[in-house]
Amino acid sequence: MPQHAQTTRVCRDCDGFATAAITTGTRHRDGTRATLRVTCPTCKGTGRTTPAGAVRAGR
Ligand SMILES: [Zn+2]
Repeated sequence: MPQHAQTTRVCRDCDGFATAAITTGTRHRDGTRATLRVTCPTCKGTGRTTPAGAVRAGR
């Protein structure tokens, strides 16, 4: 089948960007920005959704 039937889909919630770095505005002593890493709760940082039933491939 020439269809793009992928078993792994991009997460709808984060659109693939599972981890987002948010600048807090504060800086560390060395001058780097302090960022918060927020992980998408839907895909848990993988950026993909796991279709139910496709988890166990070797059935
Ligand atoms: Zn996600």
